[in-house]
Parts: sequence; structure tokens; C-alpha cells
Amino acid sequence: MTTATHNDDSNTSNPSLDKSAQHLNVDHDEVAKFTKLADEWWDKQGAFATLHEINPLRLNWISDNVLAGMNTDLEGLRVVDIGCGGGILTESMARRGADATGIDLGTENLKAATVHAEQSGLATLRYEHIAAEDFAAANKGQFDVVTCMEMLEHVPDPSAIVQACFDLLKPGGVCVLSTINRNPKSYLFAIIGAEYVLRLLDRGTHDYGKFITPAELDKMATMVGFSRQDLIGLHYNPLTKRYWLAQNVDVNYMMAVKKPHDASE
Ligand code: SAH
Repeated sequence: MTTATHNDDSNTSNPSLDKSAQHLNVDHDEVAKFTKLADEWWDKQGAFATLHEINPLRLNWISDNVLAGMNTDLEGLRVVDIGCGGGILTESMARRGADATGIDLGTENLKAATVHAEQSGLATLRYEHIAAEDFAAANKGQFDVVTCMEMLEHVPDPSAIVQACFDLLKPGGVCVLSTINRNPKSYLFAIIGAEYVLRLLDRGTHDYGKFITPAELDKMATMVGFSRQDLIGLHYNPLTKRYWLAQNVDVNYMMAVKKPHDASE
């Protein structure tokens, strides 16, 4: 039996009155880009094929690099995945033994995530329909690891999400963020290449103006009290269909930041 749950408060008579959905730091058009494709979250050849392809890279980076550097692994850690979508990363962390929670504001995404977790019989996984800031207010200092992947470039105020990540962590906890850099090369690769030439993503998935440079993300993280731990680029060769990690962070990248041990919750 699975204890994967989908705590969805959006099936009220008027979903627009849902407290989380009213949160100011959400662009509903951005969330709709994902919910309209929710049936495809677990289709490895579908709209989210790229996320499935990169998932082992990011999971291994979190586990074998970031956590290994802190002499730990995912086993038994309390993890929250913010903007979890269909739960591709959330579920993979639960499979490595993490006590994992995924949160998102897309109801259909969470349904897809919950159904898949139930089918997989995973017992240490749950999903919740709630804004990051509200979840952080209710769960201050509760988590060892916070992940927020491919989501910051879809929200009006990414720095408020970074603050929520900080608040959710125990002192000494680690946060892993991923997003897309902003420069002519990232425009060419992440928008023209991925959306128009290779059709890896739906057209309009990304808005160039919302991309975030590593320096900007570093500043957001430092401002709330994080210290930088690691930075790595995610790369793709469309000819060989090979994905790999490398130091170059011109396009897609992940950043690990740490809440200092002496930080107050
Ligand atoms: N993190 C997942 C999914 C990335 S897709 C992964 O990398 O596999 C981006 C996700 O962010 C979508 O599921 C979308 O619904 C969610 N999202 C966008 N804005 C949000 C917000 N303000 N609060 C919570 N989730 C949001």
C-alpha cells in the first residue's frame, strides 16, 4: 500500500478562491502551460521527455556530488521538491530512500504525480497543492534538502521562492536550484533550438526575459542568507542525443546553496 497522497484543496465550488492559487507570486498562464500537458508527464517520449532524459544527471549530482560532499546521501532525509510538476525528480529521490514531498500549483500535475506514485507503490512520497511561501510558513526549518528545478524562470518573483527555500531548511541543509542563464547563446539554444528547431519543448514554454543569470541567482541566494556550495552546467547534443554535466553554465545550470549551521530558522 502506498501513502502517496494528493492533498488538493482546489476542488471547492470556486477554485479561484483557493488560498494558494490566489498567492501573488504565481503566473497562472505559466502554470497552465504545464497542466494542459499533464497527461504526458510520465510519457518518456512525450512533452516532458527532456526532463526524463536529464533526471538521472540531476539526481546523481544532488546525491553523489552535493550530498556526498556533506558526507550523506538521500536515504532517510526529509526532502521537499518545489514546483514538482508530475514528480519526475520527487519520485526518483523517494526511490533513493528520501522522505519526499512535492508541491506545485498545477492541480493536474499533482494528479499525474500521485497516480504514478501509487502505481509505483512508493510509501515515502506525498504531494501537496500549495504555494511555496505558504508551505514555508507552515513548515519552517523542517527539511534537510530543498529542490526547485526548472521553475524559477516561470514565477513573477523568484527571490521570494529562494527565501521560502531558505526558510524550509534546517540549519546546515542544502538547496538545489536549476534554471536557464540569460544571454544570446541561451536564447539561441533554449528558445530557438529547443522550441523551434528541435521541437524538444512546446513553443512559448520559456520567456527569455525571465531567464536568470548565475550571478543574479547567487545574489538572490546570498541576500536571504545562503552560502554558495556548487554550480554546474547541463548540456545536450541534439545529434547524439547525449546529456552531460560540465563546468560551462551558459545555458542550463544547477546551483547548490547551503543554509549555514549557525543560521537562525
Ligand atoms: N520541477 C519539475 C517540473 C518543472 S516544470 C522538474 O524539473 O521535473 C515547472 C513546474 O513549475 C510546473 O509543474 C508548474 O506548474 C510549476 N510552477 C510554475 N509556477 C509555479 C508557482 N508559482 N508555484 C508552484 N509551482 C509553479
